[in-house]
Amino acid sequence: MAETAGGSGVLAVPTDGALALFADRDGAAAGLDERALAEAAAAAAGRALGRPVASLYARQEHTRLTYTFSAAAELEPGAHLVGTCDALITAEPATALVVRTADCLPVAIAGGGAVAMVHAGWRGLAADILGAVVGRLRAEFGVGPGALAAIVGVGVGPCHYRVGPEVTGALARLDASGAGWRGDGVVDLAAFAAGRLTGLGLDPARVRVLPGCTACSPAYHSVRRDGPAAGRQWSAIILT
Ligand SMILES: [Zn+2]
Repeated sequence: MAETAGGSGVLAVPTDGALALFADRDGAAAGLDERALAEAAAAAAGRALGRPVASLYARQEHTRLTYTFSAAAELEPGAHLVGTCDALITAEPATALVVRTADCLPVAIAGGGAVAMVHAGWRGLAADILGAVVGRLRAEFGVGPGALAAIVGVGVGPCHYRVGPEVTGALARLDASGAGWRGDGVVDLAAFAAGRLTGLGLDPARVRVLPGCTACSPAYHSVRRDGPAAGRQWSAIILT
């Protein structure tokens, strides 16, 4: 399966038995409606796989809460709300995991027959939601970090992310060594996320960061640029 972008507004990145999908503004016309965004993600994943799929989404609150979905039978196609959390995990086929972002990072993780989709802003990253997800993948599916690949999608870039010492200090408590994420009053959240994943044991060669900045590019929704009423991009991962 080739990596594609273009007219649909959705970048499709095959990875490790899974397909990660990242919508930009054109691919996320549903605005702020959580269910509509999850339905759009299910439809795009279904088109990519050539069959109807279900999608799971959550109320996102910048926590380190994860939710693992397992089922005896496939869900009905379409969107399903699972509750409050900021990372979804599954080893079930035909089930797309969806997050919404508009400056925070969408992080897709796959390997060993399992997938995870993470909503990661600085609060979630500082609470080590990536560590929580990597830990759950090992505990629940026996998948160690060395078997995982990750894609960090587009969020706010260091060009638009001046922060106070409380943010830098909170992130610096975690092992994200050698990532070059920390500047003078500036944080590169994507570099931090990639560095944290490496710190957790992922192979740096299998951690990819998609280039861009949501606040710079009109191709993306951005709360920093457009205020709290900004729309959201959806991102998803599904086992293939
Ligand atoms: Zn920028």
